[in-house]
Amino acid sequence: MNLIKKRKSMITVMLVFVVIVITSSILFWLIGDKKAVFEKNNSFWAKEMKPANAPLNKNIEADVAIIGGGYTGLSAAYHLKKYNSSLRVVVLEAKQVGSGASGRHGGMVLPQPPTESFEIAYKDSIHKATYDLTSRNMKAIKKVCEESGIECDLRLDGFVHTIIDEEDISYYKEYVKEANDLGIPLEFWNADKTEEMLGTEYYAASVYDPNGGSVHAIKLINALKIMAEKEGAVIYENSKVNHISEGEIIVLKVGDENNEVKAKNIVLATNAFTSKLGYFKYSVIPVHAQTAVTEPLTEEQLESIAWESRLPFYDSKNYLFHLVLRDDNRIVIGGGDADYYFRGDLQYKGDTQKIYEMIINELVKIYPSLKGIKLEYIWDGLLGMTSDEIPKVGVTGKHNNIYYGLAYNGQGVNMAFMFGDVIASVYSGKTHGWEAMPYYSYSSGIQDFILPEPYRWIGAKALMEYYKRQDSKLDK
Ligand SMILES: Cc1cc2nc3c(=O)[nH]c(=O)nc-3n(C[C@H](O)[C@H](O)[C@H](O)COP(=O)(O)OP(=O)(O)OC[C@H]3O[C@@H](n4cnc5c(N)ncnc54)[C@H](O)[C@@H]3O)c2cc1C
Repeated sequence: MNLIKKRKSMITVMLVFVVIVITSSILFWLIGDKKAVFEKNNSFWAKEMKPANAPLNKNIEADVAIIGGGYTGLSAAYHLKKYNSSLRVVVLEAKQVGSGASGRHGGMVLPQPPTESFEIAYKDSIHKATYDLTSRNMKAIKKVCEESGIECDLRLDGFVHTIIDEEDISYYKEYVKEANDLGIPLEFWNADKTEEMLGTEYYAASVYDPNGGSVHAIKLINALKIMAEKEGAVIYENSKVNHISEGEIIVLKVGDENNEVKAKNIVLATNAFTSKLGYFKYSVIPVHAQTAVTEPLTEEQLESIAWESRLPFYDSKNYLFHLVLRDDNRIVIGGGDADYYFRGDLQYKGDTQKIYEMIINELVKIYPSLKGIKLEYIWDGLLGMTSDEIPKVGVTGKHNNIYYGLAYNGQGVNMAFMFGDVIASVYSGKTHGWEAMPYYSYSSGIQDFILPEPYRWIGAKALMEYYKRQDSKLDK
């Protein structure tokens, strides 16, 4: 009798649970995501932003309409025109070019997608090929800067991946050996060498990669804009795409007047914003991350930190910190935290004072002599994150005319520029190299699927908490 009662109550609990899951899923599906907002770029880099181009104010036709004016969109526009000058290429940017992550990042230029960074994720030959293609792309960035007449504060003499936990040393030593055997020119630096090059005793060791460096976020945007326009691409700013109707000819509704753009092809170059247009809704989510810039260091401060090499570096935490010492002697420092907001809210709601303190705290741990230094700028930006950390590039749609390059998982300065080229190459039937890689048009299937709300928010929060706890074990 008791057993029957127990079973009945278990069935009731399960039924209630299923009903809650189904109704909440339907409810949140009906409510949907928060709408896109496009906040002003208030970063240190933004003071280099140029006046915006005029918005789209009429109906137009195009061969390729690119949505988004970050590195992906501008690079796609530049390369498409470069490979085929007769194409009608337009860029539609909701706010100003460089308003998104491309104008707000931490200034580091890195080879490899996040998955292959200091890790052979797929297989040896793929690892080497991704390294070669992404390193080659840095030369293309340099060329664009040179040809545009904007030097972009570009420095490409390498970067350092610092290791906090002594227990990780053997992994990195082994990895460097494997990478060297593949012909990847990394160097393992012990604690002394790390201190000699970066001026800090904070790290147990590090790995130096000669392919990488730093750049001024907006100067690179300006260079790309100049080059894309020089090749003949037309860029409309303050021209938000409100709606996409798929077909052999795709119809976009743009701006307050809903002007129409009829395009044979489109490019989704909207990274963290992409789900708001109805694409990659269950695989790419927007995550908020912050970066800051210090006041310029005095000569004494510079001398005291002895960061002789001036090489940029980032550490080995989940919520890693990244640092760049600029030519004007300011330190760009970011990371240490990130957040996903309920229903994919793009509006920043963080506690800036808390972020300020967290960043200063870390900076002073790395360079104790900088105690008392001030941050002059602190800002938020949006990362396009996936569960497998693999950036997405390819072509989709019933008519095979929707190109996309997005989801850089926080490591996209170099990759986004490169994906613009990949998209243009694939469109033009030209060999780039990335289209032959397993990561081209890649989906990891179920692993790629991110649950809808409210489970998405609960899952993201739980995962972030887990990562934070792991990181706190490394705190010194
Ligand atoms: C705080 C922070 C620090 C980072 N630091 C680094 C770093 O040091 N190194 C590194 O390699 N990577 C870094 N990244 C990641 C890197 O900045 C991005 O991966 C890269 O810039 C993405 O470029 P994108 O062109 O694809 O996207 P974005 O630059 O975000 O551009 C997308 C554009 O699309 C526009 N848009 C969106 N929706 C619409 C619409 N409906 N209509 C029209 N336009 C639309 C947006 O306004 C935006 O300008 C960082 C990112 C952040 C946020």
